Amino acid sequence: MTIPLSVPHLSGNEWKYIKECLDTEWVSSVGKYVDRFEKDIREYVGIRYSVACMNGTAALQIALSMAGVNPDDEVIVPTITFIAPVNVVRYLGAEPVFMDCDLYYNLDAEKTLDFIEKETVFQNGRVFNRKSGRRVAAIIPVHVFGNAVNLEPLLEPCKKRGIKVIEDAAESMGTRYSKGKLAGKHTGTAGDIGCYSFNGNKIITTGGGGVLVTGDETMADKMRYLTNQAKDDPVRYIHNEIGYNFRMTNLQAALGVAQLEELPKFLEIKKKNFRYYQKNIEKIPGLHLGEVPDYADNNHWMYTLQIDPVLYGHNREELMFVFSENGIQTRPVWYLNHLQRPYKNCLAYRVERAPRMLETTLNIPCSVNLTQENMDEVLRILKNV
Ligand SMILES: *Cc1c(COP(=O)(O)O)cnc(C)c1O
Repeated sequence: MTIPLSVPHLSGNEWKYIKECLDTEWVSSVGKYVDRFEKDIREYVGIRYSVACMNGTAALQIALSMAGVNPDDEVIVPTITFIAPVNVVRYLGAEPVFMDCDLYYNLDAEKTLDFIEKETVFQNGRVFNRKSGRRVAAIIPVHVFGNAVNLEPLLEPCKKRGIKVIEDAAESMGTRYSKGKLAGKHTGTAGDIGCYSFNGNKIITTGGGGVLVTGDETMADKMRYLTNQAKDDPVRYIHNEIGYNFRMTNLQAALGVAQLEELPKFLEIKKKNFRYYQKNIEKIPGLHLGEVPDYADNNHWMYTLQIDPVLYGHNREELMFVFSENGIQTRPVWYLNHLQRPYKNCLAYRVERAPRMLETTLNIPCSVNLTQENMDEVLRILKNV
């Protein structure tokens, strides 16, 4: 591939900080960069507590167990998302309930409220699904492609019913709400716990890594305890609970500190490239660049090309093939999770929009180091296919 979909851009202090780890031999799961990365993240997103861990999926697993999700509980998840937040529900022995998406590929807030109001009953401070009889313990809104989920209408009703809100902000580092009650808040800091990922394809990377954030000190202490093997006495090795080795290494954190320094610049580039694509794609009949919500300042992590196959004359598969022939990596939206083999017997609530969004969307190259020539090449193919 000559133009990849989404790759890291390492042009800041990455070498310097990593070299320092090697020179000082602080390479493992303790070190000043782990502390500094946690501090930098919580200052950047504006929250009290942060716990670094080995990847975003591990962060989600810890978050769900902190939410008190038990075997046979239910957790509301979107059907359109990378599968990680769905799998973690099963890691805990719980059951996903799949929700449809809105215009921004995110969990549909209205339908979710509808589900909570019509399909559940509130008893003794807990909510139960009328059909299955199971407790609904949590919801995982995923800020898909960097688009902020419309969380404002969901937070109060969830809080009232004891449904914990675990934000999957893996793709949305840098996105913040700009309107309404959540104005000024970063995605990941509006619910009970937020999870970020720093995998290689995300807007900033640590190679592999994640961070948990919360405003609750007790919760933060417990998260640190669980990600670090649940050591009640670290000298005599007393463990009163079952912990995990989910820590981030100093090497990864060093990369993260350097990348976070670059994030403001990355955000500007992403926005500029979004506008360039948008301006030119709008001129092509049958094509449209997916809008972003007007209630948030978006990180524009991933660009979504929306195709009207009748007007355009080609469908998503044909277009993907032509791009591939030309050495350009594109990707359809993830296959709908309520149709995946491990989940096809789970509950799905009024999934109506998602199949169409899946059929008509193609993700186009969005890396920070995308050049003007790269974008012009993508546009040339779109015009001439
Ligand atoms: C990348 C991603 C994750 C998982 O993060 P890892 O660090 O790769 O484990 C979870 N949720 C979403 C939406 C993601 O895009």
